[in-house]
Amino acid sequence: MILQPRPRWTQEQQLELLNWHPLFTGRCPQCGAEYKPNYTSSVHWDCPNPECGWMDDTV
Ligand SMILES: [Zn+2]
Repeated sequence: MILQPRPRWTQEQQLELLNWHPLFTGRCPQCGAEYKPNYTSSVHWDCPNPECGWMDDTV
């Protein structure tokens, strides 16, 4: 039996997340804007570029 804290995603989807999510890439997946290093203290990963408006809906 495998215990998973949040069975929301399959393992495959979680691995995919590593490829595009700004938490791991440091960049907005939509416009490529760089997240500031101190952005990691934020709970949400909304894009720092106001013209982009990308919002993280995974958390
Ligand atoms: Zn963006």
